[in-house]
Amino acid sequence: KAKELGRNTFQFYSSEMNMATLERLMMESNLRQALTEEQFVLHYQPLVSLQNGEIVGVEALIRWLHPTLGTIMPDRFIAVAEDSGMINPIGDWVLFEACRQAQAWIDEGLQLRTMAVNVAPVQFRQAGFVEMVAGALSATGLVADCLELELTERTVMHDAEFTLGTLSALKRMGVSLSLDDFGTGYSSLAYLKRFPVGKLKIDRSFVMDLESDADDQAIASTIVSMGRSLRLTVLAEGVETAEQLALLRKMGCGMVQGFHYSRPLAAAEMTELLRRQPFLHRD
Ligand code: C2E
Ligand code: MG
Ligand code: MG
Ligand code: MG
Repeated sequence: KAKELGRNTFQFYSSEMNMATLERLMMESNLRQALTEEQFVLHYQPLVSLQNGEIVGVEALIRWLHPTLGTIMPDRFIAVAEDSGMINPIGDWVLFEACRQAQAWIDEGLQLRTMAVNVAPVQFRQAGFVEMVAGALSATGLVADCLELELTERTVMHDAEFTLGTLSALKRMGVSLSLDDFGTGYSSLAYLKRFPVGKLKIDRSFVMDLESDADDQAIASTIVSMGRSLRLTVLAEGVETAEQLALLRKMGCGMVQGFHYSRPLAAAEMTELLRRQPFLHRD
């Protein structure tokens, strides 16, 4: 809550508190600077259909290319960005940039059905979020069908009535919705049915030890069959090995994402991969 503390209020806190507050304020100002100096980039990881091995879409993943510290991964700054409120301008930038890149690929004639973008809880609840999404689409010319927003269970379960209203408005626009890190949070099955969500992404923690862990196999296969009976697409995250892939295929999982196919790539590398699309088939 660094934002609520004015500069002059430092003296009222213990020195430890001062340090923590100061660190937050510095981080916030660094994040602000990163945005204006264009130090953020998006990398893209293929979302692969198990039907035909095609790259159906990509997930946009943010990286901070710090001038002296090098590449900083999102796990190290997204939480701070959320606490400081910087997630809103950063999230807006991510959405515009992802839509811009998707349209650039489509303009080049490359086949890309889905651009998936992560949305933080604070960002999802900010006033005017739906309008911002509409603005990103119209400014970049991307059709709403191509955009998929990834929300976590934590985000959607927080305030179910508010969530339902926002999700419905996005759905009416034609935007797709997917539940990220599925299985790690607490989703009520009733809401899963009520929310206009089209995809479940099985969290990587259940895929990691899939070959050796019978419990993870049971969980993954339960999510797959539940998703199928609710007519949802199920995607497994973090697929690294051919063995994991084979098990997921046997369970009837529809899509995968992971290092087995590709790590997240810089835009230029992703362009190359999309151009070589027919040669990707590999399992
Ligand atoms: P996520 O949305 O669940 O994204 C998947 C993460 O798993 C990515 O980490 C990706 O690089 C990693 N991953 C994919 N396949 C594999 C694999 O086979 N093995 C392993 N070990 N890891 C794999 P990344 O890029 O570090 O992002 C971490 C998290 O940060 C994301 O998890 C997401 O929650 C958040 N994030 C990333 N970009 C954004 C963004 O633009 N906005 C927001 N709000 N959050 C973001
Ligand atoms: Mg995600
Ligand atoms: Mg995920
Ligand atoms: Mg995850």
